[in-house]
Amino acid sequence: MISEDEIAAVADVLRSGWITTGPKTAEFEEQFQSYIGARGAVALCSATAGMHLMLKALGIGPGDEVITPSMTWVSTINLIVLAGATPVFADIDRDSLMITPESIKRSITDRTRLIIPVHFAGAAADIDPIRSDAAKSGITVVEDAAHSIGTQYKGTTIGNRGTSIFSFHPIKNMTTGEGGMVCSDDLELLDTIRRLRFHGLGVDAWDRTSQGRKPQAEVLEPGFKYNLTDISAVLGLGQLARIDDLNQQRAALAEIYLKEFETVDEIQTLAQPESTTRHSWSLFVVRLDIDRTKIDRDEFMEQLKERNIGSGLHFRAAHLHAYYRENQHLWRGELPNTDWNSERILSLPLFPGMTADDVHRVVGGIKGILAS
Ligand SMILES: *Cc1c(COP(=O)(O)O)cnc(C)c1O
Repeated sequence: MISEDEIAAVADVLRSGWITTGPKTAEFEEQFQSYIGARGAVALCSATAGMHLMLKALGIGPGDEVITPSMTWVSTINLIVLAGATPVFADIDRDSLMITPESIKRSITDRTRLIIPVHFAGAAADIDPIRSDAAKSGITVVEDAAHSIGTQYKGTTIGNRGTSIFSFHPIKNMTTGEGGMVCSDDLELLDTIRRLRFHGLGVDAWDRTSQGRKPQAEVLEPGFKYNLTDISAVLGLGQLARIDDLNQQRAALAEIYLKEFETVDEIQTLAQPESTTRHSWSLFVVRLDIDRTKIDRDEFMEQLKERNIGSGLHFRAAHLHAYYRENQHLWRGELPNTDWNSERILSLPLFPGMTADDVHRVVGGIKGILAS
């Protein structure tokens, strides 16, 4: 949901004479860093760009294994494969869809270089044991926090420690149109990412001290073009100022769904991990109990559509995409819980601005389909 104030702020940037990466991006980085409580933050044109630069900065390449769930957005898997490394899929908990410390531990080999846990749907993965197991083996952890702006794990905001990547794609809890942010307590890593995001130049196009472009900047290593524009950043500033309120609206709607589905046997909601002390509800994922229904999940989604109810699929597990089905030598993983959920999951409408009546209409539609 974009406010009139945010639209006006975008118009101001367009009139300001500086529309690409500049003072608004710097301000957005500072505000985001402070909201998360991170040591540093670098804004990018997407979370995917952040992950690409991360793999590059960490030197992930052929012979390396990267552990991540298959139940994630495919961008991470594509990038691992494009880097020449091997994705090793760790299975998820059957009821929270969360990658678990146990499945990660089982997937570690002497080739494991990196673990990318996903904080799924706005809840938090059990990150403490994941971190300590990784540290014992000298493995880096980068948290995929695309769903988790404002999520708290044991009272601490995700991104506050370690290294995390956030997304501002329009489907996420707050948006910049397209955009992403890397937060880390490793300032050296962030410097590398900051450099790689803009051609590998020694300084960004906008230099904070000189308040402008340093024409003398030189390429220190070949980099990319993944900067965020000030047009996007100002949108992010407006959204960030409202993020707790937006998340609360989501939580209130999610509560109604949860209550309603307590009495619908064919719909199983997700288990809420106890260590998630604040849930940001970026997705409302349920499982259709296909052993009790005459129709499968895809037919169910089709019938929802006929009733004007949009539903989503988060996610088609990466290993079930055509390319990864046909190229099984590129990845590893035993995934019974991922497969079980893949046939059953769908995401129901959940966004700020939706009313309680809207939620009841969705639930009514679902009950109608199940009764027919
Ligand atoms: C959306 C998403 C991403 C990618 O974010 P972009 O900003 O679209 O690149 C990565 N991981 C997960 C789990 C996501 O949901």
